[in-house]
Amino acid sequence: MEEQSFEGLPLSQSLPLSQGSFRELWESVVTASISTIPTANEPQGTFGHMDMLLMNEQALTDGFDENLFELIPEVSTKDGVTPPASTVPVTTDYPGEYGFQLRFQKSGTAKSVTSTYSELLNKLYCQLAKTSPIEVLVSKELPPGAVLRATAVYKKTEHVAEVVRRCPHHQNEDAAEHRSHLIRVEGSQRAQYFENAHTKRQSVTVPYEPPQLGSEITTILLSFMCNSSCMGGMNRRPILTILTLETPEGLVLGRRCFEVRVCACPGRDRKTEEENSAKNGTKQTKKRKSTPAPAPDATSIKKAKSASSAEEEDKDVFVLHVRGRERYEMLKKINDGQELLDKQNKTKSKVSVKQEIAVPSSGKRLLQRGEKSDSD
Ligand SMILES: [Zn+2]
Repeated sequence: MEEQSFEGLPLSQSLPLSQGSFRELWESVVTASISTIPTANEPQGTFGHMDMLLMNEQALTDGFDENLFELIPEVSTKDGVTPPASTVPVTTDYPGEYGFQLRFQKSGTAKSVTSTYSELLNKLYCQLAKTSPIEVLVSKELPPGAVLRATAVYKKTEHVAEVVRRCPHHQNEDAAEHRSHLIRVEGSQRAQYFENAHTKRQSVTVPYEPPQLGSEITTILLSFMCNSSCMGGMNRRPILTILTLETPEGLVLGRRCFEVRVCACPGRDRKTEEENSAKNGTKQTKKRKSTPAPAPDATSIKKAKSASSAEEEDKDVFVLHVRGRERYEMLKKINDGQELLDKQNKTKSKVSVKQEIAVPSSGKRLLQRGEKSDSD
C-alpha cells in the first residue's frame, strides 16, 4: 500500500526530458507530496537509494543538498599520508590488541656472523648494509592493508631531537633515491620511503604479509646503511629502531623497539657488551630496560633478562616502568637530583648516575669498572 502512494508521486508519471541538472529535476518532482513518501522505518532496500535520502527528512524539506551524492574522500595511502608524528617518537613496547611481537634468529656470536641479536640487551648487532631478518608475529588476523614501519631514533635524550640520517660520505656514494635513509627494507618492491614533512624523520614501510601456510611468522629484511661510528652521521651515538604495525591510514596497532649497533664485528661486540652487562648487572637491576616479548619457548631467556642492564657507557638512557605514582615520584626525585648534580659538576668532576667515579677535568670518558687508565 505504501508502494501505491509512492506510485502516486509525479516521479512515476512524467519525467521531464530535461538536459538540466539533477537539482532542477529534483525541484520539479519533489513537491508537497513529500509527506506521502514512506518514512525511514520502512524495511530497508525497498526503494533502493531512496532509503538513504529518507534518513534525513529535514534535508528533504530544506531542498536538494548538492553534497548529498559526493563520495566521502578516501584516505590516501600514498605519499600524502603522514604517520602520527610526535616530535619525540615513542619508544615503549606496545603489543596492542594484535599481540605484535618480534623475534630474531639465533645467530650466536661467532666471528663470521653478520647480524646477531642479544636477548639480554635487546640489541641487534649487524654489519653495514648486511641483511638482518626480523620475524614478526601477531596473535590474530590484521585489518587489510596493514603495514610495518621502521624508524630510527637516537637513544640518548641529548640526541633524541636530532633526526637519524646517513652520514654525508655514504649518501654521496649512493645513487638511490632514498640514499639518505639509514634503514632499508630489502627484498620487497613494495617498500616505501617516507620523510615526515614536519619532523623530517625518515621511515620505511612495507606491507604486512600474513604468514605462509604452516608458518606463524612473517619475516622482514632490514639493513642499516651506516656504521654506528660514521662521522657526520650517527657518530658513535647509539640508536633505537622502532617497528610499528599500522593501518593503511597510519594508525598504530602495535610497537616494538630494539637498540641497534652497526659495526664491523657484530659477534665480538655482542659478546663483549653482554659480558660487561653481566659484570655490572647486579648493581643495576633498577635500570632494567624494557625487553621485547619473548618467544613462547623462551621462558629461560626471560629469567636471564631480569638481570639485564644493557649499558655500553654511562650516558645510555633507560626506561623504567614503575608501579604506583608515589614510588614513581620518589624515583623521579632521585633521578632529577642526579641530573642536577651532573649539570653542576660538569666543569669539575662528573658524578655518574651509575658509578661514583670522578673523571679528569679534561673530559676523558669515564672508566669502566675494572678498566685501567692509559696513564696508570
Ligand atoms: Zn656512513
